Amino acid sequence: MSLAERDAKVIWHPYTQMQTAGLPVGIVRGDGACVYDEDGKEYIDAISSWWVNLYGHAHPYIAQKVAEQLRKLEHVIFAGFTHEPAVELAERLLTILPPNQKRVFYSDNGSTAVEVALKMCLQYWHNQGITKTKILAFKNAYHGDTFGAMAVSGRSVFTAAFDNMLFEVEFIDLPNQRNIDSLKSHISHLKSELACFIFEPLVQGSAGMIMYEAEWLEELIAYCKAENVLTVADEVFTGFGRTGKPFATNYITTLPDIYCLSKGLTGGTMAMGVTTCTSEIFNAFLSDDKMKTLFHGHSYTANPVSCAAALASMDLFTSAETQQNIDRIIARHQAFGEKIKAHSKVKDLRQTGTIIAIEWYTETSYLSPLRDRLYNYFLDAGIIMRPLGNIIYILPPYCITDTQLDYIYAKIEQALEDI
Ligand SMILES: *Cc1c(COP(=O)(O)O)cnc(C)c1O
Repeated sequence: MSLAERDAKVIWHPYTQMQTAGLPVGIVRGDGACVYDEDGKEYIDAISSWWVNLYGHAHPYIAQKVAEQLRKLEHVIFAGFTHEPAVELAERLLTILPPNQKRVFYSDNGSTAVEVALKMCLQYWHNQGITKTKILAFKNAYHGDTFGAMAVSGRSVFTAAFDNMLFEVEFIDLPNQRNIDSLKSHISHLKSELACFIFEPLVQGSAGMIMYEAEWLEELIAYCKAENVLTVADEVFTGFGRTGKPFATNYITTLPDIYCLSKGLTGGTMAMGVTTCTSEIFNAFLSDDKMKTLFHGHSYTANPVSCAAALASMDLFTSAETQQNIDRIIARHQAFGEKIKAHSKVKDLRQTGTIIAIEWYTETSYLSPLRDRLYNYFLDAGIIMRPLGNIIYILPPYCITDTQLDYIYAKIEQALEDI
C-alpha cells in the first residue's frame, strides 16, 4: 500500500473535506525549494509549505544544529527552569525586533502566540483595575484557529459553526486615504472600552494576500497609542523577511506594543510561537499579588530543540546570502508582474516583498471550483500552490533558484491561457 492509501484509512487532514478530497501526496524527502513524493516526482514548494519554510527543506545547517541540541537536552520544564537556547534566542530576537520590545514569551504556534498576546492585553488592564475588554481587528483578518484567535479573525466559512461562541470583536475596514478619518472617529467612540488593536501588518495572508499601505496602518497605530489602546502586530506570517524587510512593521516608525511570531521563526523546522512585549506591559504583571500573574503556558514552552532550530534560522536569516536572495526574488517577481498584469484574465496583481498574488477573473469565493482546477493544474506540473479561492500566490523559500522561479512563472502564464 502506498503512503497515501495508508493515510486515507487513519488520518483526518486540516481544512479538508475528507469525503471528496483526493488522496494526499505522500512526501518522502525535501531538498532546497523542492519536495519529492513516493514515486520520485519533484514538486517546487512555491508557498513554502504554508508559509513556514524560509531557507529550503531539510536544510543541512538547521539539521545539524537540531541534532546537536537533541543530544544535549531535548526538553525541560520551563517554569522554574531555563536553558541556553531559550535565553540566547530571546536575546537575539530582541536585537532584531524594534527597540521597544523587551520580553519574550514562548509557546508552540501562531495561534497560541496570538492567544498569549490577547491575554497580555486584557490582563494588562485588568491588573490595573481598568475595565477594557473589547478588541479591535480588521475585517477578513486571520489570526489562527484556536477560539481566541478565531474570535479576532473575520467571520467566514471557517468560523461559521462557532460564530455564536466567539467573543465580540469590533471589526474595521482596512485603512486607506479615504476612510482613515472615519476609522479614527469610530475608534474614538469606543476607546474607553478597547483593550487592544490586533492586525496583520501590510498583508492579510489568509484573506487572499490582501495588501494595504504602511502609511495608513501607521496612522491607526499612532491614533490607538494616543488613545491608550494597546497595539498587537501579528507578524506570524510577515516576519523574517517576507515583506522585504525583517518585519512588516519595519516599514513604519510608530512601534506596536506586542509582536506575535511563528511560521518562519524556525525556518519551518519545528513548531514554535513567540509573543514579545514592552517593559510597560511586562511591568503591569509584577506584583506581590499572585492574582496578577500571567497564568499561561504550554507543555512544550521554549522547547530547546525548537529554540535551536530558531537560532540556526536566525544565523541564516542574518546572512548576506539570505538578504541577496530576498532582493533577487523581489526583483524577479516585479519583472514577472509587469509582464502579465495586463492579461485579460488577471483581475488584480499585487506584490509586497517576496509575496506576489494574482487574482483570476471570476466570482470571488474560497469554495469556487476554479480553486480546485488551479490547485490540480499546478500540482500536475510539479508545483505546490494553494490558491485562496481565485487567488494564486507565490511566496517561495528564499533559496529558490532563478530556474525554478522561471518554471513557476511560465506555468502561470500557461495557466492563464489554459484555464
Ligand atoms: C498562520 C497564521 C496564524 C496562525 O498560526 P498557526 O501556527 O497556524 O496556528 C496567525 N496569524 C497569522 C497572520 C497567520 O498567518
